[in-house]
Amino acid sequence: MQTLSVIVPCYNEEAVIQEFYKRTKQALLSLKDTDGYIIFINDGSKDNTKYILNHIASQDEKVQVIHFSRNFGHQPAVTAGMNNCKSDLAVIIDADLQDPPELIPELVETHRREEASVVFCVRKKRDGETAFKKLTAKLFYKTMNNLSEVEFPQDTGDFRLVDRKAIDAFNGLKEKGKYIRGLISWIGFKQVPFYYNRDARFAGETKYPFKKMFAFAKKALLYFSKKPLILSISLGSVAFFIGIIYALWVWLGYLFDFTDVITGWSSTVILIIFFGGVQLLTIGVLGQYIGVLFDEVKSRPEYIIDEKINFEDSEKIID
Ligand code: UDP
Ligand code: MG
Repeated sequence: MQTLSVIVPCYNEEAVIQEFYKRTKQALLSLKDTDGYIIFINDGSKDNTKYILNHIASQDEKVQVIHFSRNFGHQPAVTAGMNNCKSDLAVIIDADLQDPPELIPELVETHRREEASVVFCVRKKRDGETAFKKLTAKLFYKTMNNLSEVEFPQDTGDFRLVDRKAIDAFNGLKEKGKYIRGLISWIGFKQVPFYYNRDARFAGETKYPFKKMFAFAKKALLYFSKKPLILSISLGSVAFFIGIIYALWVWLGYLFDFTDVITGWSSTVILIIFFGGVQLLTIGVLGQYIGVLFDEVKSRPEYIIDEKINFEDSEKIID
């Protein structure tokens, strides 16, 4: 008998959890030869998520709950699920039912048929998402694929199935700032796509406002590409050549008397602004990478657990 854990990060999801549990449990019960568990990670929710989860866990011992000490973010929540998963297989899925849990048996089936370690889900259709979100997502994946050595499949979120090999490889990664879909792509093994239609959120609103989305994209870029540093070199070279050509122009103008830039203040101001801009930009890029180093060197934990329920090492097993 194989075991499978569904890993679900939850932040202020009181409106969807019951429905999510009902549909996911149904899907897990329909699995053949597989014992299904659900690991909910309550990422410091401020609403009733905690109490709803505790209630479900008290009725169903196959529901495990991890409460964080505060909101650490979606990626640390999924990481905690992976770190605490003892099953042979895991499926990472959002709580908002945008990714239908009914697909879990098909994912398992694909994993078995293809003997794949990772089955990543690719969205054919994305309902209920703004044109802005779709456009920025498209631009982001295009840019990332150009900048990074790792393949970032378009229209692919964290919704995926991973087997024990992939879970162990992922759990062995030491970096603290985890961009999960990139890392799972990076670890290798056999990875196959699974196409599906993404629904609109069942209830509640997105927990990824623009600011969080931007931070997420920035993390992916800084952790998976060093090309922005090359950009500094290119910009520096361009500025250097402009400087030389300009100097030549001024010198020839002085010799043959065809320009008055030598007395002009506007040319001076433009040059100061141009070179100042180039320098600040390149220092800014450098600074971002140093910031990442700073965070990694501090080596703080990715998340802090307040309480674990229905785990072997739980202080409290609700029954
Ligand atoms: N989430 C989380 N912590 C956060 C933000 C989001 O655990 O700080 C969870 C959220 O509860 C959901 C998943 O991450 O299960 C994806 O969030 P959401 O559906 O709001 O993102 P979107 O689909 O709009 O990109
Ligand atoms: Mg969502």
